[in-house]
Amino acid sequence: MNPLFDTLVAPLAARDSVFLTDANGVEVSGAGFYQLTMSLAGALQGLGLKPGDRMAVQLAKSPEALALYGAALATGVVFLPLNTAYTAEEVAYFVADSGAALLIGDPEKAEALEGIASANGARFETLDAQGEGSLRDLARASEGGKAVPRGAQDLAAILYTSGTTGRSKGAMLSHDNLLSNAETLVKEWRFEASDVLLHALPIFHTHGLFVACNVVMRAGGSMIFLPAFNAAEVVKWLPKATTMMGVPTFYTRLLDTPAFTKKLVEHMRLFTSGSAPLLTETHQQFEARSGHRILERYGMTETNMTTSNPYEGARKAGTVGPALPGVEVKITDPESGAELPTGEAGMIEVRGANVFQGYWRMPEKTREELRADGFFITGDIGVIDGDGYVSIVGRQKDLIITGGYNVYPKEIELLLDEQAGVLESAVIGVPHRDFGEAVVAVLVARVGEQIDTAAIAADLGLHLAKFKQPKHIEVIAELPRNTMGKVQKNLLRAQFKDLFA
Ligand code: ATP
Ligand code: MG
Repeated sequence: MNPLFDTLVAPLAARDSVFLTDANGVEVSGAGFYQLTMSLAGALQGLGLKPGDRMAVQLAKSPEALALYGAALATGVVFLPLNTAYTAEEVAYFVADSGAALLIGDPEKAEALEGIASANGARFETLDAQGEGSLRDLARASEGGKAVPRGAQDLAAILYTSGTTGRSKGAMLSHDNLLSNAETLVKEWRFEASDVLLHALPIFHTHGLFVACNVVMRAGGSMIFLPAFNAAEVVKWLPKATTMMGVPTFYTRLLDTPAFTKKLVEHMRLFTSGSAPLLTETHQQFEARSGHRILERYGMTETNMTTSNPYEGARKAGTVGPALPGVEVKITDPESGAELPTGEAGMIEVRGANVFQGYWRMPEKTREELRADGFFITGDIGVIDGDGYVSIVGRQKDLIITGGYNVYPKEIELLLDEQAGVLESAVIGVPHRDFGEAVVAVLVARVGEQIDTAAIAADLGLHLAKFKQPKHIEVIAELPRNTMGKVQKNLLRAQFKDLFA
């Protein structure tokens, strides 16, 4: 038995139909992908890697890079994908922290990466965006690997969190964590063998790797595998797809593309969004333009997916939907941990087969965030309504404490987004000599429009208690975002830290 290999990879062996289509239209069949996977598995076994060893990869998205994930599943090697934007210095941290036995990277970065690998007692091999490199040579020369037995509790991957609120932590994910979630999502989102997913997400993150690829593989479907999101390319491929998974910026960029029309996506059955909040306005504009109501869901590296708007039934804009089947979600008092009544904002806690095994080599952090009864303290603040739908108010680390009062940025951001000329907003707390922290609003203007900050301040005065009103409103060109479209409030806090110093 090898739960993920048996269910995701092995069934491809007998499939002549297309599994992946790349941006040039080159197709890889199920059987072709299986062979590629097993030859890479042979290369890993030839290098002496054993079940439980960690393999860190920093690779451009390609069928071969995905096959390497399959090869890790086959061989029991723990898969550890890294953001392609990380510098060599950052990669060095992950290799050292994970104790990786093997690092695989782009040949162009070989010099720096090889040094990092050897300094940490790891081997180094290369694989480029075309799927060529020293590892591929080893795969071609190998007679093919053999799948090893694995248990449901064995680790399949260590996925590092995005590092939005601090240093990235390695989330240990077992076969059962990933498989149970993939099976739930296949059912909830009605994925079938006939589905073609337009895949434009990175595959180093839980969204593009586990939510997208595991779900499609479990359903026996196929993917249009694009290297990155490019609106023109996506418009070109949408006619051949049945579904797309995206981050909110995919949708705002499609709305900015005139060629994105109702006719283009009439045949599609599902668009999903996650990783960052989807503005109600984007949801509404997308429906008006395309006729589709985006299905927003919520999850994180540590828990996979936890809530989802329904496939059938009300998809409520501004919410992330009810808990998925088999997942418990509750709202607790961040101080005492006591469960709060419906409608009150508090800490989102999650329990289920989807919840990770703990942080790699961080027993204390694990104890702080993973309760003995199995509930994971997410760090996100949310509310559950009478129908069980969860809305995310913000992250606990973004909570502002000003003059002793708690301020949740989201409440103010929602009002700001309604103001004339405002495209989007971010509310942050910055150090203030009297109040501890001061509320600061950072705004981005709509193209060609002006923002009247005095008028906005006056309007907020009508709606918000004095302590919630921004002490300063700043207009900037764009909000800093990471590759998953997450607003990096830490950068904004650093930029404006001296406003009241
Ligand atoms: P770190 O934990 O290192 O600070 P991170 O939490 O951003 O980084 P991820 O695991 O990639 O790392 O992201 C999970 C977070 O993304 C969630 O905790 C939540 O704050 C946010 N998120 C995911 N989906 C949604 C959504 N639909 N709406 C709002 N926020 C979301
Ligand atoms: Mg997190």
